[in-house]
Amino acid sequence: MRCPQNGREGLEVPLKTVKNFLVGKALARLDPQSPHYLCQDPGCPVVYYGAEGVYLLEEVRFPVYDKGASLVCYCFDWTRESLREALARGLDPVAQVEEGVRAKRCACDQRNPRGRCCLSTLKAEVAGLASA
Ligand SMILES: [Zn+2]
Repeated sequence: MRCPQNGREGLEVPLKTVKNFLVGKALARLDPQSPHYLCQDPGCPVVYYGAEGVYLLEEVRFPVYDKGASLVCYCFDWTRESLREALARGLDPVAQVEEGVRAKRCACDQRNPRGRCCLSTLKAEVAGLASA
């Protein structure tokens, strides 16, 4: 399904992700029977949408990476800034997150706005910072 605002194809996300992100007033409009999508365009104010309508940036409880927030890993709170600091100190944030995933401490399906594991995004951010 395409974002009603910008017409681009969105990323289908689990219902529990949308439920975790929406503020109460927005949650009151949610149709739990139909699929929901994340609009990944940073320039579009629509975060989630579904058959019943759209949910805007001011209707979500946490900053959203795809909308320009620097929060990358929603389970262990890695931001672009804390990643840069850790790399400068010779730490390996990717290995730390992988360890957390192995230990089953992550809850990406609920905590990440994409409803998916952040590892590929985290690796790309780290690679970008390392080459900067
Ligand atoms: Zn959009």
